[in-house]
Amino acid sequence: MSILAKVMADLELFKDLEIFECPLCGGAGGIEVENDWCVYVSCADCGGHTSEVPFNSPDEKYAAAKKAVENWNLGKVISLGTGAN
Ligand SMILES: [Zn+2]
Repeated sequence: MSILAKVMADLELFKDLEIFECPLCGGAGGIEVENDWCVYVSCADCGGHTSEVPFNSPDEKYAAAKKAVENWNLGKVISLGTGAN
């Protein structure tokens, strides 16, 4: 599968997940899939991100993304800035 096809498949998979605005800066959060082993949510504006949620199979990818989005929506976001969370 091409990278673009993978991204499109992920977008389709995650389309039901509601991602709040960045708790740090109010920017847009997006789901990132890292080499088919973990998922996290990161901010395009400030680079803040959740911890990585690993998954072991494609079937677990949605659940991992859901968990990452929950963390994000609860404000469990790591700042790249001062290191003060
Ligand atoms: Zn942000």
